[in-house]
Amino acid sequence: MALIVQKYGGSSVADATSVKRVAKRIAETKRAGNDVVVVVSAMGDTTDELIDLAHQITPIPPSREMDILLTAGERISMSLLAMAIANLGVDAQSFTGQQAGVITDETHGKARIIDVSPSRIRAAIDSGAVAIVAGFQGVTQHTNDVTTLGRGGSDTTAVALAAALKADVCEIYTDVDGVFTADPRIVPTARKIDRISYDEMLEMAASGAKVLVLRCVEYARRYDVPVHVRSSFSGHTGTLVTDVPAPGPEGEGHMEEAIIAGVAHDRSEAKITVVGVPDVPGKAARIFEVVAGSGVSIDMIVQNVSVAKTGLTDISFTLPQDDGAGALTALTERQAEIGFASLQYDDAIGKLSLIGAGMKSHPGVSAQLFKALAGAGINIEMITTSDIRISVVTRAENLDDAVRAVHTAFELDSSEDQAVVYGGTGR
Ligand code: ASP
Ligand code: MG
Repeated sequence: MALIVQKYGGSSVADATSVKRVAKRIAETKRAGNDVVVVVSAMGDTTDELIDLAHQITPIPPSREMDILLTAGERISMSLLAMAIANLGVDAQSFTGQQAGVITDETHGKARIIDVSPSRIRAAIDSGAVAIVAGFQGVTQHTNDVTTLGRGGSDTTAVALAAALKADVCEIYTDVDGVFTADPRIVPTARKIDRISYDEMLEMAASGAKVLVLRCVEYARRYDVPVHVRSSFSGHTGTLVTDVPAPGPEGEGHMEEAIIAGVAHDRSEAKITVVGVPDVPGKAARIFEVVAGSGVSIDMIVQNVSVAKTGLTDISFTLPQDDGAGALTALTERQAEIGFASLQYDDAIGKLSLIGAGMKSHPGVSAQLFKALAGAGINIEMITTSDIRISVVTRAENLDDAVRAVHTAFELDSSEDQAVVYGGTGR
């Protein structure tokens, strides 16, 4: 008998019909003799709608109240799902994050899980019931306040529960058949990846691939939880995120590692250029101290060569668009002290990342990437690399074309129609 944690995203439980459909799949898994714990997201775009609603009340909702509001979304879906499963003659009980023992720190809106003590979940499955857990939420250790884990946080709840319960697998059900070599919404010829390492999946998630949230992958890697990403709309095998290599066909050795896992893209960043920075030691340190001091994490950094005659240089960096205003304010307050001339803000940028563990040992990947972009007439504004990733910034309007050109250049296109998007509004 296996213990399976299944997570269903908002698009898989968007309406009553979908809730009943998902309930059938859960009941089948249970009847096949498994212990089943289900983590569920809010129905459809409920979370976005609740956020919109709060903003109609007040421009900056207090974060504690915001968290209580948003956790209501998952309470709706968990209870309806439990009812639907009970209707099929299978015992089911739903639990809030707090009841499930998800303990977090106190950072409202993006709390981190610090411990999971799922004794009630354990008791429910030992009694033969399916346990349904509200994703994306927890409770603080000391103040007993309700917290949320950040957008897409139900994935993290699922993996954290799987780790705490020592589940055999964590299945993440979504609206596509797995992790693809690019977003199927942009590249219809994207290919499903059968197996991907934690490191590659981390880079994909960090580079904008929305199929799994970054923290969930970090958690899975730390606790070695195998994650199976698949669709709730089809019976297809999805993508296994694991460091265990695929069993090779009998009599043959392991297949050679693929050079490229996939192409990720990100439209959520902005670029700030600090113009006319005195080219003397300590200025970059001050600029990034000030930005970090405002609680903003930055991504890429480029410093231009100093113009010899003036002794001035420009420093550009990227950061989440949501943090743009905060960083600009913090820098403006210190303009006189740092001595730069002006600031430029640009949120019409896009980032493309090429990811693959094989590029470590394979020369020429950057050259091939730049050539593909040049062939599509796309200008590169910034470049960064890690040992398994190359990222470039382009104009936002060129990003889709860039992704398609690079995907084709690295021969990732599939001839089969794998890249079906079954649901979701893409919101
Ligand atoms: N409902 C939350 C969100 O939309 C959490 C999740 O879907 O994982 O971000
Ligand atoms: Mg959602």
